[in-house]
Amino acid sequence: MIIEIAQDAPSSTMAAIMQAAEDHRLVANSLTNEHGATVVGIGGSLPSDRLDLPGIARVVAAHKPYMLASSEMRGPSIVMVGEVAVGDGTPVTMAGPCVIEGRDSLIENALLVREAGARILRGGAYKPRTSPYSFQGLGEEGLRYLAEARELTGMPVVTEVMEPDQVELVAEYADMLQIGSRNMANFPLLKKAGKSTRPVLLKRGFSATLEEFLMSAEYILSHGNPNVILCERGIRGFDSAFRFNLDLNAVPALKELTHLPVIVDPSHGTGRRSLVPRMAMAGMAAGADGLILEVHPDPDSAMCDAAQTITPATLAQIQRGVEALHGALTPVFEPMRAPEPMVAAAD
Ligand code: PEP
Ligand code: MN
Repeated sequence: MIIEIAQDAPSSTMAAIMQAAEDHRLVANSLTNEHGATVVGIGGSLPSDRLDLPGIARVVAAHKPYMLASSEMRGPSIVMVGEVAVGDGTPVTMAGPCVIEGRDSLIENALLVREAGARILRGGAYKPRTSPYSFQGLGEEGLRYLAEARELTGMPVVTEVMEPDQVELVAEYADMLQIGSRNMANFPLLKKAGKSTRPVLLKRGFSATLEEFLMSAEYILSHGNPNVILCERGIRGFDSAFRFNLDLNAVPALKELTHLPVIVDPSHGTGRRSLVPRMAMAGMAAGADGLILEVHPDPDSAMCDAAQTITPATLAQIQRGVEALHGALTPVFEPMRAPEPMVAAAD
């Protein structure tokens, strides 16, 4: 059940709703909507006599299981990553190496991706590698280089966190926590990230349905963190021609289902450098709020995911395409971004 409380409602209304939820042993969480009003999501139904309260603006009795993440909860969310807004209608590109390889190479990479138009720097310090023999990342040393790169370039940074116990440490250095595909259903990690004050970039599990993906976002939201960005990064297909299949249906579908910003990762979604620019464009045409791309000055020598890593020059080409597409498509699709009209209150 979703209950929207009018801004001028007495504070006793919120208290009464929370008490009613407690009496019925139902979990209640709230979010602020785009008009500044409080919207409460309750994991079940309250009897209507408990809702006979002043200042209830809207009640949605039948809701999705991911109620806080659902578009019934509120209009499109804007997530701030440092000072960069994601979801405000201007596409945002995040770029950098798959893995942080060292101080100087990261700083060189950061300066090059900024020059090519990226606004957020990515780079893994803790890497979820398929093989235990592959380079696992520099750990905290990598986080320090990332923070230094932020100081030097002014770009906020995003990096992966793999375990609940790493959340606080990673949050000290990073502007946004990345939860990777392999950890999308790591519920203790999602809960811990939900208690962080940092925004979270949640990547879709490569075998996860959209509902499972949104339920993982719901874990973060329901633990108190409203700042979640979703990332479509490809699902497992049958064709070994591709590492993963970028599921672009997911982008407009998620835009219908949720208020959270959605970005696309054509690097992991293809696994092939030559396919990245076109699939980046396709992701933007599908309605993404931005892109995340693996970039390296010398992609062939990248220590991780070399085959899908592009050069800064290719990033600059993609960025030109993003801007051109944005200019061309905004007038065509802008009316579809308008928030749903408010539904009248149920008596
Ligand atoms: C990454 O972005 O470096 C990464 C490991 O991605 P994913 O979790 O989508 O595989
Ligand atoms: Mn990678």
